[in-house]
Amino acid sequence: MTVIEPFLEIPDSLVESGGDGLNLCYQCGTCTALCPWSLVRPFNVRGIVRSAQLGLDVEDGEDLWRCVTCGTCVANCPREVPIINVVRSMRAMTASSGGYPMTIRSMRSSQQQYGNPWQGPPEARNAWAGTPGLPVFDGSQEWLLYVCCTSCYDVAARGPAQALASLLSAAGVSFGLAPATAVCCGCSVRETGDAELTESLGRRNVALFRELGARKVLASSPHCFNAFRKDYPAWGGEVEAAHYVTLLDELLAADRLRPTRPVRRKVTYHDPCYLGRHNGVYDPPRRLLARLPEAQVVEMPRNRELSLCCGGGGGGMFMDRPKGERFANLRLQEALDTGADTLATACAYCHAMFRDAVRVMGVEDRIAVVDLAELLAEAIGETR
Ligand code: SF4
Ligand code: SF4
Repeated sequence: MTVIEPFLEIPDSLVESGGDGLNLCYQCGTCTALCPWSLVRPFNVRGIVRSAQLGLDVEDGEDLWRCVTCGTCVANCPREVPIINVVRSMRAMTASSGGYPMTIRSMRSSQQQYGNPWQGPPEARNAWAGTPGLPVFDGSQEWLLYVCCTSCYDVAARGPAQALASLLSAAGVSFGLAPATAVCCGCSVRETGDAELTESLGRRNVALFRELGARKVLASSPHCFNAFRKDYPAWGGEVEAAHYVTLLDELLAADRLRPTRPVRRKVTYHDPCYLGRHNGVYDPPRRLLARLPEAQVVEMPRNRELSLCCGGGGGGMFMDRPKGERFANLRLQEALDTGADTLATACAYCHAMFRDAVRVMGVEDRIAVVDLAELLAEAIGETR
């Protein structure tokens, strides 16, 4: 199993000098063939790598912003070329000459002004927890629970965070919320190639974790988990990071959560790219599903390492795509084709992309989009 390792450097030099990773490419075209864009329109990843080797601009500048950093190409490249890194560094170069797409520009200015991509007031960061709310981490608890900005500020995305908090409480886990002074983990700007802004957000969180004495950070999103695990150590953020599904899996194994209520659903699970391909977490979600009483679980043909991206990563969450180019619609159709009435995932971006796809495709009466935490809360009988 290939797990995608971090590419922290924004290697202008890699592109300028045709560095080692790039030179390994022998133009086999596997990346282009497996890229999800091949399902909807021509998109020449191999050509992007070739342009980088030659130090040339990409012919169609928009192509650079199509990559959703899903990692399918990296996981299958026979020469282990750091393709996402190449794309990110080329984005950084075009961006330095004012080349950010408009929606990415507004996401970035929100990050600069508010410390999150959604123009959310910092003081409302924990509003999802309702009133009287949940304890904020003060150094006395075991886990600092860091909830993704998308769940914090998108009212429709609060359910998964609320379900997770109730499960942790039911299992007697000692946890406190990241305070309102926490900022975005940095994942969304990282993929645009802006290393400076990514690091400045990351360092603010690292300082906060240190000030609070947090040693264990539980992420509600695979993107935050990926940042804490792979990026933060370079900035002194030596915390033990976990994605919530791993902890829930452990709590189930330890009998601290007992799912007894029937979950009469036919469920198919979508592997989020940053949980699966980027971090190799494939089994805990499936073990969790297997513990849901009376639930029928079916796999989509593309699963685990071959899972089809929802389109939300790599800045895709903030881009407008024409209807025929939305991976979430394709993926939702794959879920419908299994006969499932429930599409489960474990990522706030996937959750939002699929909710949108359900609405656009008009299939609200056929399939529901839920988070794994919500399904488990249903089986435990816990809701906040
Ligand atoms: S799969 Fe790897 S070696 Fe083949 S063309 Fe793409 S980057 Fe080059
Ligand atoms: S990371 Fe995914 S979207 Fe980007 S080029 Fe590779 S396969 Fe295509």
